[in-house]
Amino acid sequence: MAVTEDATAIAGELAQLRRAIHAEPEIGLHLPLTQQKILAALDGLPLEITLGSALSSVTAVLHGAGNGPVVLLRADMDALPVTERTGLDFASGIDGTMHACGHDLHSAMLVGAARLLSARQADLPGSVVFMFQPGEEGHGGAKFMIEEGVLDAAGKRADAAYALHVASAELRAGVFSTREGPMMAAAEALNITVHGRGGHGSQPHHAADPIPVASEIVTALQVVVTRNFDIFDPVVITVGSFHAGTTNNVIPDEARLQVTIRSFSAASRDLVREAVVRLVHDTASAHGLTATAEFEGSYPVTVNDQREARFATQVVADLLGEDRFSPQLNPMAGAEDFSFVLDLVPGAFVMLGACPPPVDPATAPFNHSAFAVFDDMVLADGAALFTELAVRRLTR
Ligand SMILES: [Zn+2]
Ligand SMILES: [Zn+2]
Repeated sequence: MAVTEDATAIAGELAQLRRAIHAEPEIGLHLPLTQQKILAALDGLPLEITLGSALSSVTAVLHGAGNGPVVLLRADMDALPVTERTGLDFASGIDGTMHACGHDLHSAMLVGAARLLSARQADLPGSVVFMFQPGEEGHGGAKFMIEEGVLDAAGKRADAAYALHVASAELRAGVFSTREGPMMAAAEALNITVHGRGGHGSQPHHAADPIPVASEIVTALQVVVTRNFDIFDPVVITVGSFHAGTTNNVIPDEARLQVTIRSFSAASRDLVREAVVRLVHDTASAHGLTATAEFEGSYPVTVNDQREARFATQVVADLLGEDRFSPQLNPMAGAEDFSFVLDLVPGAFVMLGACPPPVDPATAPFNHSAFAVFDDMVLADGAALFTELAVRRLTR
């Protein structure tokens, strides 16, 4: 039977699984309840399953009939610290935690693909690795899974890797999108502290005031962006937090800034990391103060392999029709830790619209919103695409 028909036949069960995961969301690297649900859903399939040690990951390997290539398919499983306000009847039952990025759908779609591919085991000339990953939202879960061997789980290195990501806005439900090259930004979190010397507000010459120095750093960071980077290889720097002092007549000892930096090429990423640290140190030093600049966790640029992105585009068109694909013109400024996988294995990160009709995707609340709604109707198509990508890539 055709992949799409098989996927439609299990759509109800996938929706049930998705809703169960949605109702009981978990954050970070340890998702025991979600892990249990995935394991129960995979039970009885001819898979070799290993669980993570540093995180509650599930790696499932399906060995086909031949010793051919290895394809890795990835779903992230974690939720966000958001209080859900969708009013859905399967809304989060855990206060302050919500599947606001649709990772509940990814998990269900990958379970669907595991079922569909298991049914085709005898016809597969190679192996498929199913990567169920915790901690995508800022915890670098993919990095931990790579360290624990997910890329070699089938006995040799994966030849290609694919991930799907749903969007609650911008794309019509059921429409896939991707691009060749940079797909999502690199993200760096930077903590800056300007160290001065506190004193009386009336006698700044007896103190070393960190506030004007930190202020100069804030504006100078924007000058760095416009004077050092090609406008066609952009960089974004945002100071999202600035804290110093307690009252009007006391000069504080220090000022703290929290900064996010986005870039879209490895070269710009290296350059901006270096330029920002130099600027912080030298600006402080110009005023006789010192400053520290520390990077705290970062994701590289998510780069789609040209050939694999074209292949994924072709598979969408062949499987579901050309009207179900919309090219992504520019990379997205969000970041993804699937970037760690794509740094080592050629592959593609593909978006899937999940905005529930008749809501207009142009105005719908986007991923991470407390109001973001993702439609179950896309689960069958997502599972079918994962399946078809693996089948065709193994026989390519
Ligand atoms: Zn997210
Ligand atoms: Zn996400």
